[in-house]
Amino acid sequence: MNLLKKIFRRRGKFSKDKKTVSALREKIKTEIGEKVPIYNFRYNLTRENSLINGLCAITEEAVYCAHMPQKGGEITLEIYDIKVLSDFGFTKNYGCVSLECRNADGELMEICRADTRLEEGVMTASDCLCDMCSGHEVNAPKDKKNRTCPKCGRAYFKNSTTCLHCGGTKKIIMRLFSVAKPYLPLFLVSILLFFAVSGLNLLIPEINRVLIDERIKAPNASELTFYSLFIVVLSLAVTQLAVNVLSVVRSGLMLKISSKMLVKIRSMLFDKVQKMSIGKISEHTAGDLITRITSDTQVLNEFLTYDFPECIQQGVLLLGIIIFMAMKDPLMTFLAILPCPVVMLMYAGINRFMHRIYRRQWFVGSHANTIMHDIFGGIRVVKVFGMEKTEADKYGATVLKERNVREQNETLWNFIIPATNLLMELGEFVILYYVGTKILNKQMTLGELTQMTSYIMLIYGPLRYFSRLPRKLVRTGTSVAKVFEIIDEENDVADAESARNMDIDGTVEFKNVCFGYNSHETVLQNISFTAGKGEMIGIVGHSGAGKSTLINLIMRLYDANSGEILIDGVNIRDISQESLRSQTGVVLQETFLFSGTVYDNIAYAKPSASRDEVIRAAKLSGAHKFIIKLPDAYNTVVGERGNTLSGGERQRIAIARAILCNPKILILDEATSALDTKTEKLIQDALAQLIKNRTTFAIAHRLSTLRNATRLIVLDKGEIAEVGTHDELVRKKGIYYGLVMAQRQMAKGES
Ligand code: ADP
Repeated sequence: MNLLKKIFRRRGKFSKDKKTVSALREKIKTEIGEKVPIYNFRYNLTRENSLINGLCAITEEAVYCAHMPQKGGEITLEIYDIKVLSDFGFTKNYGCVSLECRNADGELMEICRADTRLEEGVMTASDCLCDMCSGHEVNAPKDKKNRTCPKCGRAYFKNSTTCLHCGGTKKIIMRLFSVAKPYLPLFLVSILLFFAVSGLNLLIPEINRVLIDERIKAPNASELTFYSLFIVVLSLAVTQLAVNVLSVVRSGLMLKISSKMLVKIRSMLFDKVQKMSIGKISEHTAGDLITRITSDTQVLNEFLTYDFPECIQQGVLLLGIIIFMAMKDPLMTFLAILPCPVVMLMYAGINRFMHRIYRRQWFVGSHANTIMHDIFGGIRVVKVFGMEKTEADKYGATVLKERNVREQNETLWNFIIPATNLLMELGEFVILYYVGTKILNKQMTLGELTQMTSYIMLIYGPLRYFSRLPRKLVRTGTSVAKVFEIIDEENDVADAESARNMDIDGTVEFKNVCFGYNSHETVLQNISFTAGKGEMIGIVGHSGAGKSTLINLIMRLYDANSGEILIDGVNIRDISQESLRSQTGVVLQETFLFSGTVYDNIAYAKPSASRDEVIRAAKLSGAHKFIIKLPDAYNTVVGERGNTLSGGERQRIAIARAILCNPKILILDEATSALDTKTEKLIQDALAQLIKNRTTFAIAHRLSTLRNATRLIVLDKGEIAEVGTHDELVRKKGIYYGLVMAQRQMAKGES
């Protein structure tokens, strides 16, 4: 009961929300009439940070803000005339963002405010108003990320873009069919087998009738030979045997199809995750992606292996029995299937709740996986800070939540399944009465009774099965939607159609490049420079200036919002990512080693490399000396993430990896900052080998390591502030000089 109350309360909340929005919309409409606003968005805070329900509409003339208290009440409408306002923008505060402008007296004023859930709308509105005031075309609404289903208006869950309510099931089935296409012949054979098995199942009651009415209870039974009886019994046995043999073949076929589909979907999903841009991947947690690749595909596999064949089998059987029974006794058939529409109506009524509960179950399950993955990934930090109990409690709380949702789910089914069974049983009682009267009136023989009883038993099998099927369908639907949500996700850093493989020479040019991780906040502005082939460019600046972001753009982990990045004069978007990445080498501050041997980790960059090449690369990087001292030399297995090696050793392996890949463009991101001075000297020597004849971009915390750079680019708040050699910039006494002096002071202090 509690569960049902909860569900209904939530449903009430949703419709109340919808009503509030339409009331606010109506209020705005009374002012703007039939004009279509350029942009609408919701806000939910007053200037004092109290919660309200607000809707804002922007037209060419004014900004209309309508809001009412959360608990309902009077709607307040505020109208801001765009002509007398200027300097539209937004300000991010703690946990909220406000849309602001200057009034006719030049004073700063706030139009509306929203918390972080609705900040996207406020920021897009600010872009919109800025575009309008500067006479640009207003295109912000097109850029706006769709966070609600356009059809039913429900908000998507975080990082989700699928609404299971609106035609989702149909879409999912079509997508599944498109994946199953190659297995269609096998599939058709198994469907034929389903028909054969169902046909034989239907034959059994008919043979039973012949056995009883025409052999055992026949008026002339004594005249019949044992031979004819034997033939009937034999045909019964052969039919049973055929049913079993064909069922085994059919199950084998379905198992083959489903395992092939499982492998295919898992590979599609894994490939897609690998191809997703870093931006897209970071919208999901590792736990979320792992849940989709492992559990969701497993749910699909179970459905395909067991439920789908069963569903076809029971469907064919049900249809056959209905036809057979209808030919013998239409009224009885009608009585038998009478409860079906009621059951179907019942499911249609609770369909929405079922989807909601399964979605919640999926999200809490995925959250539990995310926490577990985080804890295992950061187990050293957990141990160092003695947070084992806290983390265990955190995980325990999530698992408990998952259990509660699962329990709610099961309670709902424990209520629904007996209810549907009861409905079905009512139908059985009606039939019992009907058959009884027929026997009493001598309108039915014993054989016919046995036959009809067999059919009735047969018909209730599929009916009961179908009454439990929605549960499985909803569970599978939720998982499959999650799988295809990733597979069908648009790739924001995709190869252009004209993208080609090319041999890179090494000239890199930035032309007025602007970039922001989200469309409202620019991280890099108007970056223009050219790095010639073989040059070493040092990138320096305060923390957060945009150094790593610039490097991410060179590797095309993200695409620039405007401007162009050219490599040897070709736009980076016209070079295939495979070709670009295979000719770009990276050494990062934190080297990631895969669990495997030292040899495998070096050869990772070029699996086709010969042993001599790998050893040569290790020698050049200075790694060879320590590798040969390891217990199994190159065959030593490094622990997970290489944690059996020191930071300097891991770094030298990373350099060997980069040397082996022989990149034309090399990126060193704080490659030596985590090392002590002696190790740094070793790594510096290795790096000197590495950068020869390659265009290198290096970020270094210790500016002394960039002395040999051909040029230094100094970034300040996302813009290029200074460019020159170390000596030139020191003479200039600008930002770089300040950074050098600060480091010298620190070094003095330390000594
Ligand atoms: P630097 O390398 O100079 O220290 P970054 O390029 O890492 O600076 O960061 C520049 C700015 O971009 C910072 O304000 C940072 O918070 C922001 N930023 C960096 N990475 C992301 C990201 N993945 N998503 C959103 N903002 C980011």
